[in-house]
Amino acid sequence: MVSIKSDAEIKKMRKAGLINYQTHKLLESKIKPGITTLELNDIAEEFIRSKGGIPSFLGYGGFPKTICTSVNDEVVHGIPSLKKLKKGDIISIDIGVIYQGYHSDSAWTYPVGEISDEIKVLLEETKNALYEGIKQVKNGAHLGDVSNAIESHAKKYNLDVVRELVGHGVGKNLHEDPDVPNYGKKNTGLILKSGMTIAIEPMLNLGSRKVWMEDDDWTIVTQDGKPSAHFEHTVLVTDDGYKILTGE
Ligand code: MG
Ligand code: MG
Repeated sequence: MVSIKSDAEIKKMRKAGLINYQTHKLLESKIKPGITTLELNDIAEEFIRSKGGIPSFLGYGGFPKTICTSVNDEVVHGIPSLKKLKKGDIISIDIGVIYQGYHSDSAWTYPVGEISDEIKVLLEETKNALYEGIKQVKNGAHLGDVSNAIESHAKKYNLDVVRELVGHGVGKNLHEDPDVPNYGKKNTGLILKSGMTIAIEPMLNLGSRKVWMEDDDWTIVTQDGKPSAHFEHTVLVTDDGYKILTGE
């Protein structure tokens, strides 16, 4: 069942979203060659708690850390470790925050120092694919309109859409109905209604869309070893459009 949030619930989600956004901004300022993903994790955890939030991912399904840090060919669910970032890497950081019982979910892929032109396009156009999807959101639109906009944008830039992982409803639970795929047909699927809150999150690959799981049973990587990018916002459906809850 897809839940419709009350104004009071949306207020809590907005606060969860704001803490999430601020955590991203803080981490962005810390990313540099030599820092470990574990250091980034610890900075995030301390900040989230200082703002009255709780990390959503810590302990979720047994996940051992506060944030997911996925480097280069790692698509999602990378576990923070003593691995140091290097110049030319990219790092996808996924953050979940609970505030007074309500979740926000947002991911961003960052460059570490100077990156190649090809990878710049991957980052820029995965972000743009997210916003193309978000632009379709409004009361009465079909979920397939969102999915199709993301897929069409990816195709335009010859990026391949990961299909095994999808966006989702979000609210009292980190993952709620409906699934929000990053591929699909216009005018199909669920009809969006004001008060629904969904996490839209394209994962686009520079090479093939094929992925598999590492031996740690968490980290998803591309099979061809080429880089992958991930951008995600938690979005509220409104009468005339949308509101991004994990932005400024
Ligand atoms: Mg996420
Ligand atoms: Mg998500």
